Amino acid sequence: MKAMVLHTQRQALRATELPTPTPRAGEVLLKVRACAVCRTDLHVVDGELTHPKLPLVPGHEIVGVVTGKGEGAERFILGDRVGVPWLGWTCGTCEYCCTGRENLCERARFTGYNLDGGYAEYTVADQRYCFSIPDPYPDAEAAPLLCAGLIGYRSLTKTGHAKRVGIYGFGAAAHIVTQVARFQGREIYAFTRPGDRKGQGFALSLGAAWAGDSDTLPPERLDAAIIFAPAGELVPLALKAVAKGGKVVCGGIHMSDIPSFPYDLLWEERTLCSVANLTRRDGDEFFGMAPLVPVRTTVQTFPLSEANEALTRLRAGQIRGAAVLVPEG
Ligand SMILES: [Zn+2]
Ligand SMILES: [Zn+2]
Repeated sequence: MKAMVLHTQRQALRATELPTPTPRAGEVLLKVRACAVCRTDLHVVDGELTHPKLPLVPGHEIVGVVTGKGEGAERFILGDRVGVPWLGWTCGTCEYCCTGRENLCERARFTGYNLDGGYAEYTVADQRYCFSIPDPYPDAEAAPLLCAGLIGYRSLTKTGHAKRVGIYGFGAAAHIVTQVARFQGREIYAFTRPGDRKGQGFALSLGAAWAGDSDTLPPERLDAAIIFAPAGELVPLALKAVAKGGKVVCGGIHMSDIPSFPYDLLWEERTLCSVANLTRRDGDEFFGMAPLVPVRTTVQTFPLSEANEALTRLRAGQIRGAAVLVPEG
């Protein structure tokens, strides 16, 4: 089968012919229909996340059809359409797994990082971590739900009952979160790279109450803010934008260093926290809610062989919504 493979970090992916994987006990073999491109993939390729398996097939927002099953894999039947997320395996026995926090599992394995992912014609996945994909979604449009959607949802949930929510970095996760937040009766304030009028227009078209440059303050103090852009300098800016008691949630897996800032910005019970990975419960909640909102995703598709081009455009901030790879044939 054809796959786009990372052989060495800080190098382009190489088109590589690999044997079609064989599902082991409890695993399903999937023919990949679509795999979205996440910023985390960029962090892996660019060497900011330093411990991937190599060589690696990246990709952790996979929509595929079950074409084979390992021993005891009875959860799905052949032909079922399923989604594979970032959380690929957990131990089930550590302190975190036993307290409903499998996202923090000491021995977790992640799809497209410790396990081969979906930049390929076929992949295998542990059936216990797969999700059923709601029917209304075409393959490419469903793919971004599996990370941008899930991590976005977890980040939004972390803001508690915040009514006015700022979002810094208006990419794949933000465009989904905005729709969920509106459905929940919240207001979204979208911050983009300074001068990105198109991005701001996109945010407004999805129902954001306000959109502006990330280095400006919103018209009203926010109850919470979520930072999806991997830029540490946004942290003090977001703290400045939230009201007393407000919360700033860092939703990305990697961020450049956070500059020092006066304690005044954190004072008055403001909180700063991060979101790491996802739990299967997040996925069940999110996939239950997505068709009701209904969440619609904006995608830009690329043939699998153009994975490097998709990554380059994502790095340059040139993707509206989410980039999605589609295997040819
Ligand atoms: Zn991701
Ligand atoms: Zn564990």
